[in-house]
Amino acid sequence: MRTIELTNSLTRAKEIFTPADPKRVTMYVCGPTVYNYAHIGNARPPVVFDVLFRLLRRTYGEEHVIYARNFTDIDDRIIARMSETGERLEEITNKYADIYEADMAALGVLPPTLAPRATAHVSEMIALIETLIAKGAAYQAQSGVYFSVAADANYGKLSRRDLDDMRVSARVEGEDDKRAPADFALWKAAKPGEPAWDAPFGRGRPGWHIECSAMIEKTLGRTIDIHGGGIDLLFPHHENEIAQSECAHGAPLARVWLHNGFLTMDAEKMSKSVGNVLLAHELLQRWPGEVLRLALLSAHYRAPLDWTEDLLKQADATLKGLYGAVDRLNDVSPEGDVEPSDDFLDALCDDLNTPMAMAALSTLATDANKAKSESEKATAKARLLKAGEMLGLLQRDPDIVFGRKVNASLNATLGNLQLHATATVDWPAEKIDALVSARFAARRAKNFAEADRIREELTEMGVIVMDGPEGSTWRRA
Ligand code: AMP
Ligand code: ZN
Repeated sequence: MRTIELTNSLTRAKEIFTPADPKRVTMYVCGPTVYNYAHIGNARPPVVFDVLFRLLRRTYGEEHVIYARNFTDIDDRIIARMSETGERLEEITNKYADIYEADMAALGVLPPTLAPRATAHVSEMIALIETLIAKGAAYQAQSGVYFSVAADANYGKLSRRDLDDMRVSARVEGEDDKRAPADFALWKAAKPGEPAWDAPFGRGRPGWHIECSAMIEKTLGRTIDIHGGGIDLLFPHHENEIAQSECAHGAPLARVWLHNGFLTMDAEKMSKSVGNVLLAHELLQRWPGEVLRLALLSAHYRAPLDWTEDLLKQADATLKGLYGAVDRLNDVSPEGDVEPSDDFLDALCDDLNTPMAMAALSTLATDANKAKSESEKATAKARLLKAGEMLGLLQRDPDIVFGRKVNASLNATLGNLQLHATATVDWPAEKIDALVSARFAARRAKNFAEADRIREELTEMGVIVMDGPEGSTWRRA
């Protein structure tokens, strides 16, 4: 078995990855707060960790890898949204969780094994807080229950900050009764009109950090193999997850910590607070998800990635080149059980070096272009597609990619619509309507793969679909 090496943020070193139990490899990645559309920076962690998920499944076997990515569905930002729109909590969180899943599917992200929601684990959070109070690591104040940083000798071990550095950044409005500025809320006392749960230490709601600690314990166990997220989560979020879980259980929370770098625009982090965001959802109206995915994987996950229109054009051209190679071998059936090249696998196993893997993928495409005999062609095509699959790329029909054909299964679904996608055809509105409603029905049924396929088809027909809560509308591009 090939060794996988990963850069562990905890030790700051590249280490050989050895799961505690190769029959049960566990990974947790902090998921989105579902109150709004995800921007393309938010899509970087799910795409990066999707590649790792694929690599782990290939290495240890599909059924031996358990990957949990949560939904944070109770949080200050969601509550703010409730008062802005007058919607109920679940209306907001269900809507944006659905949109998130659909957007991720369009980016070729496999559904994680588990997608726990914070609101479904409040009793586990309460139990964890009780343990921390009993152990003297947490205390109750008027405004809530706080973790006492002074009670944890190891606090700061992930971010390697000392308490003096933390003092400045730790002031939070309404938390004046904390014993120390760096203490953080495990439970926030209920305020009028806010969602709240009963607890032995008073009605209220969980803090963000305890949500992940409780969901990890419940879904994966006390010590997991890999914990991932964006670099902005390293402090305070992951530091606090470690403090809570390790004080409660006396065992390491995660053996390997992985953090992706920022997606930037003009060298500045893409972020809602800066206001320089491009929504994944909107980009997906303009570009195939696969182009966005390739762009997201074009830099090493730990490096910053600057998002520009040029990056997208380049990703589009690269992808067309790769599909060109598949297309030239359209009549060749890929020959079964082959591996991608050593270069390709070595690159991925070397701390998930996707730029190098992409270079190896291009070499496989060149090999496919050069193949002469039927058997060379069959093998070259199989290796190229296999490597593509590990990156979540090259799985579409080149006829559809190059706009020569629309999706065959959809044609069957919709009966005898004689669709031939060319840019010049002015598609009748009835046909577009039928496709748009088929897509909406697929989304409702959570069949995101199918919904995505239909959207691709519509894009190829020159139709832009706009999704709303009541249904989807469309216009011609
Ligand atoms: P949030 O919904 O803000 O909690 O963020 C969801 C995920 O997106 C977290 O893992 C963040 O670290 C990550 N993230 C947010 N902004 C960026 C960015 N500009 N580049 C890369 N990752 C980001
Ligand atoms: Zn988390």
